[in-house]
Amino acid sequence: MSLKTSRLYSIIKLKCPRCHEGNLFTSKAYSLKFMHMPEKCLVCNLRYEPEPAFYTGAMYVSYALQVAMFVAIYTALRILFNPPLEIYFITMIAVPAMLIPVTLRLSRAIYINFFYSYHPDWTRLADTETHQPSATKTDAHIPQNTRPGI
Ligand SMILES: [Zn+2]
Repeated sequence: MSLKTSRLYSIIKLKCPRCHEGNLFTSKAYSLKFMHMPEKCLVCNLRYEPEPAFYTGAMYVSYALQVAMFVAIYTALRILFNPPLEIYFITMIAVPAMLIPVTLRLSRAIYINFFYSYHPDWTRLADTETHQPSATKTDAHIPQNTRPGI
């Protein structure tokens, strides 16, 4: 398995979990719309929010990332510098606060990768999803006089 086909690539590069080509986010991490995601992947048409409030579960991933960051910062400070207690508090508040956009985006990328994996033949999937009839298309094919309630 190459790096391009691994989940790690999708997570680190913030790419679509199915095609690894489309971007998960529309803007940069340090902008006002840092959490804005397109409705679908612009390359393979994968819906990024398959159900309402899909990313609620990503807060657990974000929590795990924050805890890992606290432990890493504490360990690095303890081993490298062994500073006074105030420096621990300042660093352990300032660094995670500055990295909030990065952590939130990474947690969403990790979370969506729990549910979708790379598909080498994603072009075929994109074609079939595009041609699936939606509920409104199905209703449109029913003749006017046979619709219930009309
Ligand atoms: Zn895609």
